[in-house]
Amino acid sequence: ATPTALMVGSGLGAENGILIRKGEAIQTMKEAKVIVFDKTGTITKGKPELTDIITVNGDEGVLLSYATTLEKSSEHPIAKAIVEAGEKREVPLYQVEKFNSITGKGVTGNIDGKLIFAGNRKLMNEHDVDLENHEQKIIDLENEGKTVIMVAEKGKLLGIMAVADTLKEDSFQALEELRKMGIKTYMITGDNHRTAQAIAKKVGISEVLADVLPDGKVDKIKELQGMGYKVAMVGDGINDAPALTQSDVGIAIGTGTDIAIEAADITVVRGNLTAVVSAVKLSKATFTKIE
Ligand code: ADP
Ligand code: MG
Repeated sequence: ATPTALMVGSGLGAENGILIRKGEAIQTMKEAKVIVFDKTGTITKGKPELTDIITVNGDEGVLLSYATTLEKSSEHPIAKAIVEAGEKREVPLYQVEKFNSITGKGVTGNIDGKLIFAGNRKLMNEHDVDLENHEQKIIDLENEGKTVIMVAEKGKLLGIMAVADTLKEDSFQALEELRKMGIKTYMITGDNHRTAQAIAKKVGISEVLADVLPDGKVDKIKELQGMGYKVAMVGDGINDAPALTQSDVGIAIGTGTDIAIEAADITVVRGNLTAVVSAVKLSKATFTKIE
């Protein structure tokens, strides 16, 4: 590309809320036939709210107290939803010892001398919590696109909570426009398959990569590249950063984490996916007009 091309590109980018950190990225963008989107905070607003609380053993107040106590030490959007609900109900907080945050799974800690954990199926399986009698309820919640958090102590389920996130206003339209341009849209998430599928359906995505642990996001990008695609990736989280670096064009959500922004080539400043469409258009316009 000529320097003039890049300058024009950057200028137009700024007007469209696109910050270009690496000049060649905007050129590569028009060759990307696959764009992989993170779910939480990228397609969705990333501000889930607590929608369901089901007590299995003990009482609801204690359940919410335990969960709030543990989640207070976590930065995850799910944690924020639970803490917000707990604080609204002014539940008492406990002392917590040996707090542990397990990426892609949940949180654990000692409360009242007992090991309590809050998280997904993977975490429950590791602690031998039998979910069998509650499986249908969990599945129903997931099919509604909700993320289910189970709270348990060793071998005993205390309760089930669900949080729901909402789509960004322009997600469906932006993704649809990309598909009309012949681009394949993928969703990638650490969330479970059923929840991911329900959200994907709402935005017309048929390719869903779910249950992906943070390290796994890079491998999925590599896999797609191995199939001969130039791959763009859009994400907001710390756990997206390595995948943003690996992809041919990394696009960070400007309202997301600094770590994602630093790992990316392009930032969509306001975090809306329409700006990703603009980036593709810009890429095509800039390099056909000037070269
Ligand atoms: P993503 O940001 O792609 O949705 P993460 O790897 O951050 O994925 O999280 C994957 C899953 O791990 C979540 O959907 C949730 O089930 C579980 N999880 C992660 N952090 C927490 C937490 N603080 N509390 C409860 N569950 C959690
Ligand atoms: Mg995210």
